[in-house]
Amino acid sequence: MKWRKIIPLGLACCLLLGGCAEQREQAQQMLENSKMKNRHEATTFAMDTVMTFTVIHEDGEELIIDAEQEIRRLENLLSVTLENSEISKLNAAAGKEPVAISNDTMILLNAGINLGALVGGAFDIAISPVVKAWGFTEEEHRVPTKEELAALLPLTDFEDIILEKGTAFLQKEGMAVDLGGITKGYASDEVAFLLKGKGVSSAIFSLGGNVYGIGTKHDGEKWEVALANPLDVNDYCGIISVENQAVVTSGGYQRYFEENGKKYHHIIDPKTGYPAESGLLSVTIISESGTEADVLSTALYVMGLEKALDFWKENDMFEAIFITEEGEVVATEGADACFAFEGRDNDFTYRVVERG
Ligand code: ADP
Ligand code: MG
Repeated sequence: MKWRKIIPLGLACCLLLGGCAEQREQAQQMLENSKMKNRHEATTFAMDTVMTFTVIHEDGEELIIDAEQEIRRLENLLSVTLENSEISKLNAAAGKEPVAISNDTMILLNAGINLGALVGGAFDIAISPVVKAWGFTEEEHRVPTKEELAALLPLTDFEDIILEKGTAFLQKEGMAVDLGGITKGYASDEVAFLLKGKGVSSAIFSLGGNVYGIGTKHDGEKWEVALANPLDVNDYCGIISVENQAVVTSGGYQRYFEENGKKYHHIIDPKTGYPAESGLLSVTIISESGTEADVLSTALYVMGLEKALDFWKENDMFEAIFITEEGEVVATEGADACFAFEGRDNDFTYRVVERG
């Protein structure tokens, strides 16, 4: 069971502006009360994780059910553990034959491959044989031998995935695809699209820590998302304010096992086959695209701070907040603009990096 990584905060108390305009205050209050009546919340379990929804809309209850159905539809296509998913069928036919896949699966495989290339291989959807060897797929954890990992690495190259006219083919026998690092982000984009299409202008949801905020809160303020303290998941290091944006965190503290006093986490460096040891405790991405945020949080965690900042300087589709093993919270300048750091009491320090 994974930890919930980011906690959407409850509504902050609202400040009414204006001098003594009592009537305006009353009108505002009435408007807010009516919006509060339309506030619908739900929690569910899907894609192996906890999902929470807050939708402000008169049909909120039904819309949340629609969102859940969409998530389950994607899970049934994309899960690496469900035997009848398209991904399981693709994996079973590795080295043998191309498999027909639906539009969503094609989009996701394409996105995984393209983003994997963009981050120089730090994200690799063909990593599954290695993730499996560590027991993360079936939650039967073990430490594989060096020889075992060395034999698996040649099977983990996304360049060996061939996409053609509605089919996908894994060229080598033993290859397998794992979309665990991208599916929840894609699902968050799909749910946001679905809700906006049905007239929702105020909602926030968290698909196992992949948070997406639509519009603003009922009082017009931005949605607030807590940045988890990686050393204590019940605590946080600050508040991120978002509007029509995704916030996604990846960190070794989220899923790991211990053997002989050593911790092994679930984010694998595709170059070595071992859990990434990059000096980071967590990476949080803020972006309009949940899909990209999901991939980048994993990839930049693998890269480590220095390479990740170089990557950010060359790619302007996201902002990021890093927490290092030394207890430094590092925000890109765009992230700093929507982040209130609150980690001083826990001995975290704070630094902002400029693009120029
Ligand atoms: P979570 O799925 O727990 O939210 P992430 O989004 O960081 O965490 O993705 C990690 C998951 O992605 C792992 O559980 C594994 O299935 C897969 N994975 C691990 N390392 C990589 C990698 N370097 N590239 C692509 N996928 C990865
Ligand atoms: Mg991810």
